[in-house]
Amino acid sequence: RVKAEGRNGFRFFDVSMQRQAQSRWQLEEGLHKAIERQQLEIWLQPQVTNMGIISGAEVLLRWRHPERGMVSPVEFISVAEESGQISVIEEWVLEESLRLLCQWQSSGLPDTFRHLSINISPAHFMQADFIQRILPILQRYNVDDINIEFEITENLLINNFKHAIDTMLLLKEQGISFSIDDFGTGYSSLRYLNQLPINVLKIDRSFVNDIENVDDETPIVDVILLMAKKLGLEVIAEGVETSIQKQLLDHRGCRLYQGYFYSKPLHHRTFYSLLQEGGGKLLSPQDHFDN
Ligand code: C2E
Ligand code: MG
Ligand code: MG
Ligand code: MG
Repeated sequence: RVKAEGRNGFRFFDVSMQRQAQSRWQLEEGLHKAIERQQLEIWLQPQVTNMGIISGAEVLLRWRHPERGMVSPVEFISVAEESGQISVIEEWVLEESLRLLCQWQSSGLPDTFRHLSINISPAHFMQADFIQRILPILQRYNVDDINIEFEITENLLINNFKHAIDTMLLLKEQGISFSIDDFGTGYSSLRYLNQLPINVLKIDRSFVNDIENVDDETPIVDVILLMAKKLGLEVIAEGVETSIQKQLLDHRGCRLYQGYFYSKPLHHRTFYSLLQEGGGKLLSPQDHFDN
């Protein structure tokens, strides 16, 4: 992949490229052992209603690397996608998340908490045996009262729309619902929106960011909210960082939020304490950061 030889036979493979390749290879090697060495952790970011109730959470995977500290999923998910390890990793994420939910349900869960979102990589979703391998996991855990949502991105739909939609319909029968993550940043065709069994659009953080900018007319957020309303979809605003952003979004009719203004992602134990403490309400935004 790397262009190792120039026109005259000179080697272009310089030191920095070599380091990069090496570091990537080390990540790939490390990932193979990460699950059994218990280095992967489930972190959760609250999803909050405009009334301050924690109605759900998004599962965000963390890798506590022995030498590097926390490795960002932005870095290791793409490595896992390229190396084919993504399926095993996301099956672990699903299983762990469901196991946690069952634990919480038996030790007490506010009944306003209704929902868990799990990111599914297109590389995983489009595998021929995706359903076959995921169904037994879903059936092993009885979490009837909680809605399990898979977050997919628009790019999933580019290559094999038919297969994607068939898979979604099968999962829907099993009680899984879907949201479009980072909505508005990928391949967007308005046509697919009313063909797909989706429930939620997640407005990408970049649009939420723009909203405070006075020079910016930011009709995008309005358009998304209006379109969602017409199509009967829910909307959640991602990456809300300030109370002004929250107010502006409220004013435009948004009702669900996720972002640092409310809470950063939290280790699942911290998240559960937070949920218990407030009886399902997020008492004091931003007071409980542990990262
Ligand atoms: P995402 O699914 O769009 O998740 C939201 C990301 O935005 C998270 O980054 C979250 O920490 C961050 N975020 C939330 N609120 C704010 C905010 O107010 N300001 C800022 N600046 N950022 C905010 P994180 O946890 O680093 O994850 C990055 C991406 O990694 C995720 O983006 C998702 O695409 C991917 N990812 C994480 N876990 C998984 C997984 O299990 N499977 C797959 N396929 N992807 C995952
Ligand atoms: Mg997501
Ligand atoms: Mg997102
Ligand atoms: Mg993203």
